[in-house]
Amino acid sequence: MSTTADALAASTSSTPRPRHRARRGRAAAARRGRSRPAAAAAAAAAASPSSPSPSDLATADAIAAETLARDLTRDEIDALISRASLDELVAAAGAVRALGANPRVVTFSPKVFVPLTFACRDACGYCTFAKDPSGSESDVYMTVEEVVAVAERGRLAGATECLFTLGDRPEARYAEAAEALRSLPGGPFASTTAYVAHCASEARSISHWSPYDRVGVVLRRTGLLPHVNAGVLTRDEVALLRTVSASQGLMLESVSERLFESGGAHEGCESKRPAARLRTIDLAGELRVPFTSGVLIGIGDTRDERLDALFAIRDADRRGGGHVQEVLVQNFRAKIGTRMASAPEPEFEELLWTAACARLIFGPSGVIQVPPNLTPEPDDVGGGGVGGKARNWRRLLRAGVSDWGGISPGVTPDHVSPEAPWPELDALAAASLAEGYSLVPRLAAQPRYVVESTSASTSASTHSAASGSFVKGGCDAWMDPAVAPHVRVLSDSEGFGRAHGWCPGREEAAAEEAEAEAEAEAEAEAKAAAATSEPSRSSRSWRVARFPRAKDVVRVDGAVAAAAAAAGGGGVSQSIRDAIDRLARRGSALRCDPKLASSSAYVHDAAADADAAATLLRARGADFDHVCTAADDLRKRQCGDVVTYCVNRNINYTNVCTLACTFCAFSKGPSAEELRGKPYLLSLDEVARRTREAWDRGANEVCMQGGIHPSFTGEDYLEILRAAKRGAPEMHVHAFSPLEVTHGAKTLGLSISDYLVALKAEGLGSLPGTAAEVLHDDVRAKICPDKLTSEEWLRVVSTAHAVGIPTTSTMMFGHVDADGPDAWARHLLELRRVHVSSASRSHRKRESDSMDTDTAAASRRHTSVATSANHPATFTEFVPLPFVHFEAPAFRAGDARRGPTLRECILVHAVARLTLGPAGVKNVQASWVKMGPEMASLLLECGCNDLGGTLMNESITRAAGGDRGQEFGPQRMEETIRRAGRTPRLRTTLYADVGEGRREVAMNAAPLLPV
Ligand code: SF4
Repeated sequence: MSTTADALAASTSSTPRPRHRARRGRAAAARRGRSRPAAAAAAAAAASPSSPSPSDLATADAIAAETLARDLTRDEIDALISRASLDELVAAAGAVRALGANPRVVTFSPKVFVPLTFACRDACGYCTFAKDPSGSESDVYMTVEEVVAVAERGRLAGATECLFTLGDRPEARYAEAAEALRSLPGGPFASTTAYVAHCASEARSISHWSPYDRVGVVLRRTGLLPHVNAGVLTRDEVALLRTVSASQGLMLESVSERLFESGGAHEGCESKRPAARLRTIDLAGELRVPFTSGVLIGIGDTRDERLDALFAIRDADRRGGGHVQEVLVQNFRAKIGTRMASAPEPEFEELLWTAACARLIFGPSGVIQVPPNLTPEPDDVGGGGVGGKARNWRRLLRAGVSDWGGISPGVTPDHVSPEAPWPELDALAAASLAEGYSLVPRLAAQPRYVVESTSASTSASTHSAASGSFVKGGCDAWMDPAVAPHVRVLSDSEGFGRAHGWCPGREEAAAEEAEAEAEAEAEAEAKAAAATSEPSRSSRSWRVARFPRAKDVVRVDGAVAAAAAAAGGGGVSQSIRDAIDRLARRGSALRCDPKLASSSAYVHDAAADADAAATLLRARGADFDHVCTAADDLRKRQCGDVVTYCVNRNINYTNVCTLACTFCAFSKGPSAEELRGKPYLLSLDEVARRTREAWDRGANEVCMQGGIHPSFTGEDYLEILRAAKRGAPEMHVHAFSPLEVTHGAKTLGLSISDYLVALKAEGLGSLPGTAAEVLHDDVRAKICPDKLTSEEWLRVVSTAHAVGIPTTSTMMFGHVDADGPDAWARHLLELRRVHVSSASRSHRKRESDSMDTDTAAASRRHTSVATSANHPATFTEFVPLPFVHFEAPAFRAGDARRGPTLRECILVHAVARLTLGPAGVKNVQASWVKMGPEMASLLLECGCNDLGGTLMNESITRAAGGDRGQEFGPQRMEETIRRAGRTPRLRTTLYADVGEGRREVAMNAAPLLPV
């Protein structure tokens, strides 16, 4: 028996194509009255000078590698399939799929199915969807209320997509439909398409739509994203539907004109003419609409014709700039009551063959979709058994299928194939995991139309955080501006659907309450549905998969751990192991030899480091678990089981700010007057009083930050610092972000270094590493355009370290489209670079100080009560700060997501440990304010060793709509830590021990006076 490589080599050798196949191809072309589509021919011609010889496509891996660079030509596909066995084609397709984005993810879209009208001008030989509306004008169309009721039931059950599927232009055939369009509430409507838009829009008059009215009823009332399959459309209709939907679709089905002949599947079905359908697909490309198309196999088409159809879709996609978001390969099912009721259904192998060919044709970046409810079971092909369908799903995955399409969470049936129930998600997840894929919910638009893609390595390949650019795309490029915000709020940082409802900033209890309420409602709805003709299914498993169980985070990911274990799949991928090893090795090397960080070799290798960190930040399923475990192991080695915290007080001395960061709900300025809270500026006496009170209550740190007050100069910051020291001379003052330092220096005409020295001389203990946001200027341009650049921020912290002031480091993440794993990876690597450089400098300085007592004395003059004596002037810790969206201007404007998902929060903390830990940043903090105590506690198992400060008062997160921030006292801190099975330790800002006496004071503190 030949190997795959042998067979594929033979298939692509110079042996001529079998003559019968060549003849068939020419005959088919002649029947179509045209040769191969012009664009494909042109592409083939253009590719030919540099195209590899056929023998270069000898193995599955070689084929896959080639598809990364270019599209395979029809001749190459023909050559492959002429000799390769089905298994060999599947192997090649699988190798191609493995090179695409998200190679360990298979998606589905949680949806409800809205059959707006069953009436259709056509009557395809296989269709049970279309119904003759004669004599029933009143219910030709669903009413707006009925549409919303279905969408709302879907929302309660966790759906994110509202699929409008309807017959093609029924008014062209049925007087009842035309009359209904005239008399429907809100009408008259010029066409069925206009009524679809109305149902999605609820607007009474299109001419009076404002951009935000247009979004309308489904989005506004339910948040579900419409995906519209409205048949063959004009340009104006495609454009109209774009304003009310996230995506559209139209199956090409087939390019075979034979099917229109007498007795053919498309006899008398003008809307199925390939030219008309391809014209609609082209229009979608011109109008930048994410579009779904595909083929219907087994309706009398030949394999050649099927390939022709797939190539025609690919050509349209390439003409349209990549707008075909997914290619559906659907198998014909013979249905009772149709003209084709007794026609043979295609065997599973035919479906498998077509899916594999589709993957080879569309390459690694294509999304190949197969509806799992229609998958032939082994019974159909002579097999049998309960697991048969799952076995075939697994085979489809091996053939490069990457999407299961829309699946309703027990709300609506598949109205096109009502005889085929949706699969249980747990079963689908188990089958997917058994092949190494996490089942992940997606939105009505595929991820690449939701977020901008980035390159971690491009960005990190330079020393400068200011360079590196994003590939433009995402919502801004592909969605109507009124639709885009609705897409964003349902999205995670990679453009997938959020697998659960958790958001940073609010108590889990509140989330649980809301979830329980929603679940109860969903169950009531399911019971109500049982009384109707629609199938009743419990939504429990669906809801559990969406709910953030602290100890079962794999479920949060949309995967099902137990099912994976049962299926014996879900192993950790090699790329994850390699990435962890790489970061460990490189971090240690840098720690031992910090000079590496300024070498050109580092710049080169940092690109691969960035890719490694980004790979970890995208982990799902078993990979996700492995990243968390590896981070936990490293934390154990670096920090033992001790969890530290400090008793501190936040003093936000003013919320007046001249800047307008779009993520900030705290500041009050010209553009933020409508936000909650009043402008204030604390007096210096109040700063001193709060500091004194904090000291008396056991605090050993005040953390002071504020807005950039228009009247402030560097002298004001010095005064604030003096006031704090006046209040409690021994208090460690942790104050002034790099932004405030820069502002202070500039207003006094000092260098950053001189100003920092002045602050240090007045007793500044350390700088908070806030205002970093995400160290990528494309992201900063969106969220804080008038703030420091990435490079400026890095320069200030490096300078602080150089003058002997330690700083913390932070990352505020989970907001705008460009902010995602690549940007986060890059941020972590910039911090690593600065840290090792600063650590080296600090080490050298200590050595030289110990040799030069005069220098040491001079240095001590600049050393405050508890600074670098305890900690080298480097980063003391890394604090991930998940974006709290509720009141943030960017969110209110529709430009931001709902903060990072729980999975993303966990990964950022874990990957921070794995990236920064080996380089010597020992402390990774979980913010109880942003994460909540329960989730912060969970993070202690994922690489964190610190819970931050008790805060006493916190204003910034609460201004953003968070419901936490009032003191989380030392008792609660220690309880939380002990509950997690760890040992609490009260620390100073610089991670030294706090004496037992101060701890006693903190434990027995009097209540805080109201402020
Ligand atoms: S984040 Fe800081 S600088 Fe930006 S607006 Fe808010 S207070 Fe001002």
